[in-house]
Formats: sequence, structure tokens, C-alpha cells
Amino acid sequence: MSRIAYVDGRYVPHNRAAVSIDDRGYQFADGVYEVIAVAGGRLVDGPRHLERLHRSLKELRIGWTMTDAALLAILTELVRRNSVVDGSVYFQISRGVARRDHAFPAKASPVLVATAKRMDFAQVAKRQEGGIAVVTAPDIRWGRCDIKSISLLPNILAKQAAREQGAYEAILVDERGFVTEGSSANAWIVDRDGNLVTRTASNEILNGITRLALMDRAAERQIRIVERPFTVDELKAAREAFITSTTSFVMPIVSVDGQKLGDGKPGPVALTLIAAYRDQMNM
Ligand code: PLP
Repeated sequence: MSRIAYVDGRYVPHNRAAVSIDDRGYQFADGVYEVIAVAGGRLVDGPRHLERLHRSLKELRIGWTMTDAALLAILTELVRRNSVVDGSVYFQISRGVARRDHAFPAKASPVLVATAKRMDFAQVAKRQEGGIAVVTAPDIRWGRCDIKSISLLPNILAKQAAREQGAYEAILVDERGFVTEGSSANAWIVDRDGNLVTRTASNEILNGITRLALMDRAAERQIRIVERPFTVDELKAAREAFITSTTSFVMPIVSVDGQKLGDGKPGPVALTLIAAYRDQMNM
């Protein structure tokens, strides 16, 4: 079955989908995006993703007028047309098409592009069982990491560096030696006092939807959450650590910079939260 994409008002064969070379997303990475998981054919945490989308659009002053109901209808139809049961939808909104000039164009309509893909959740579960290796890398991103912008060069360079070192994810570290987040995920530890620790949401991290959902699940289970920065040394000495994201869910970290974390196996808090998040997704 051939994949279908959505481009600016039309469903088109994925391999023939295209945007203008004057699209500001293509020219300047002038746009925002979201990735929503699909479980059992349904979007996971749709309202929270749309809330964050609106925030990103507003911060970048992209004038988006489509209603949420219309946007959700497009995404749901795309999931249906691609027969995605378990997977994800990606969508981005650029400022639009205009003659190349850095300043905002006087007249441009935002362009929506959306794609859907299948994911093997069993493969994610297998990775969760073994846990992942991470490496640390300097966080060289800009001052507005809270905006889910399609400009991701520092993130992809960090991810590539991690992959070249045989690790799954790069954990980004600020100038003071504190972890910000992963290159495409939020970072968490269980500290020496048994608290679940993750960095406070600010302009220095993307406030993950999985992060927010997990806070709800942890609170229901009386797991104490402390939002504060933690250092690389704390990460290495943590009882447990994991990352969270839409496509990796809750993913335990078992080694940092080649050094085993704890006993080198996913810990009990991570396992509890993996199960809790699975329940939420109805997996
Ligand atoms: N932080 C960064 C830099 C990301 O790119 C992502 C996801 O892509 C996340 C955190 C996790 O966000 P979410 O849970 O909404 O997928």
C-alpha cells in the first residue's frame, strides 16, 4: 500500500508530495511542528499537542487560522488513509511561500504538511527492556528551546554524534554542567533520595507532552517529582535515569558516556512508569 501525505489542502502520494522551493520552512526553517503518537488508530494526547502547537505558532507570530477540529480531521483522515494502527503523525506549519527575504512577508499563508508512519511498538518495548546508552554533549542550541521549531540542526548534530559513539541518544549539557534534555527527548533521573527529578520547563527545554503526561501518572502513584536542574555527575550517580518522548515513550538509560548506570538494568521506577504510560496509551 502506498503512503499518503497531506500538503497544503491535498492528500497526495507520499513519494510525490512537494512544497515550493520558496516555502519559508525550506528556506529558513521558519516553521513549527508536532509529532503525535497513534495507538490503536487513535491520536494520543491530541489536545495537549495542539495546545503546545498554538503556543509555538504564537511565539513565532505565524498567523494560523484553521480550527483545531479541522486540523484534527485532517490528521485523523491521514491516519486512516495510511492504515496506521500504531505509529505517529508528523505535521509542520511553515510561515508560507514568499520571495526569499529574512523579514516576514507582507502576505503569506501558512503551509501545512503532514505525514503518517507506522511504528512497531513491540520494538520499542524490546528497547525499553534492555535500556539505552546515552552520551553527553554540549547544548549549543538557541535561547528559545521551548518553541517546537523545525530548526533542529544542533539536535541532529548531537544525535549523530551519539550514534557514531554507539549510543541511542545525546544528553545535552548547559555551560554550567547541568543537563537540559536529550536531543529529541526530555531527561529524568531518580536521585539518591528517591525523588523523580527533571528540569523545570523554561526556555531552555521543550516541555514534552510525554513529560507532562508522565507527571500526571507519577503523581497518581505517589511518586515525588522535583523539577530542578541536575548535573552530569548526578546523572552518572543516579539510582535510575530515563528519557521520555512521543516516539520512545519512557526509555530507561543504562549507561552514560560508556559508564554503567546503577546495575546496568532498567530500574523499578522506570518500569512502573513504562507500565503506567502503556496503560494510558491503551497498549
Ligand atoms: N525535547 C526535545 C528537544 C524534543 O525534540 C522532544 C520530542 O521531539 C521532546 C523533548 C519530547 O517531547 P514530546 O514528549 O512532546 O515528544
